Amino acid sequence: MSYYSPSIEKLIEAFERLPSIGNKTAARLAFHMLNCSEDEVNEFVKAITDAKKNLKYCSICYNISDTDPCAICSNAGRDKSVICVVEDVKDVVAMEKTHEFKGVYHVLHGSISPMNGIGPDDIKIKELLSRLMNGDVKEVIIATNPRVEGEATAIYISKLIKPMGIKATRIAHGIPVGGDLEYTDEVTLSKALEGRREI
Ligand SMILES: [Zn+2]
Repeated sequence: MSYYSPSIEKLIEAFERLPSIGNKTAARLAFHMLNCSEDEVNEFVKAITDAKKNLKYCSICYNISDTDPCAICSNAGRDKSVICVVEDVKDVVAMEKTHEFKGVYHVLHGSISPMNGIGPDDIKIKELLSRLMNGDVKEVIIATNPRVEGEATAIYISKLIKPMGIKATRIAHGIPVGGDLEYTDEVTLSKALEGRREI
């Protein structure tokens, strides 16, 4: 049974559904919102709804963007002959922070994980292949996370693209095994990119 009124309870539940928010934090955030002015609350809600409305997937690389194609794909200064394949939108941000990579990206939106029922067709592999078929891509750098799923995905992709005469490389293991690109510092990530090897 709850000690809160139903509307506060509902707000707490909404916060609790957010990633890494526990019950206590959810309650703290809910009460914080209640203490905000109506303008502040409206601004907060508008930021969420606007982001949701304006953001879309880039139809080329599947990065989340305000525009289609995204800023990276439509940048004439980026080398379209090198594609860096990552699992997640957040990995694009991690790579961009290194300022080392001048090519373009392809966001898979996941990794192959038979244990969780995620097969190659559930992530953007087909989309990557069709990009490779009609482009002048020379190298695909596979920067999936160094976990079992990420490695399996890297091997799967390299087997598909090698017969196409495109070089497939894997970023080096500067990144701790089981780690996330997202949480890897920029120096380690640039070294991993620099030390990539053909697979
Ligand atoms: Zn794009």
